[in-house]
Amino acid sequence: MTMREAIVGQSRGREDIWIVQSNEQIETVQLAGQREFAARTLERETKNLTQIDAALKRIDNGEFGICLDCEEAIAPKRLAALPWAGYCLRCQELHDAREATDTVEPQMAA
Ligand SMILES: [Zn+2]
Repeated sequence: MTMREAIVGQSRGREDIWIVQSNEQIETVQLAGQREFAARTLERETKNLTQIDAALKRIDNGEFGICLDCEEAIAPKRLAALPWAGYCLRCQELHDAREATDTVEPQMAA
């Protein structure tokens, strides 16, 4: 009986350890997910900053509000919502579609 209790006690202790370990694993996975999310947010923010910088340069060049692709005026409504928009709605949709299908090289238009 004493042996049995000792063994049961041991295995219960092991169970506790296992639970702690699996909790740590869950935390690790969550942290990895958060890091991934942070990295993506940073990437997106960097991209936004690049777009804003480019828009500021276009203001200097007097090209602000002109689509980089078709060189037509970008709709004022679109500029109001997205002042750093580099493309008109039509071209932006084309770019988005291209980016969605080709994520290997998300390059900026030259
Ligand atoms: Zn365009």
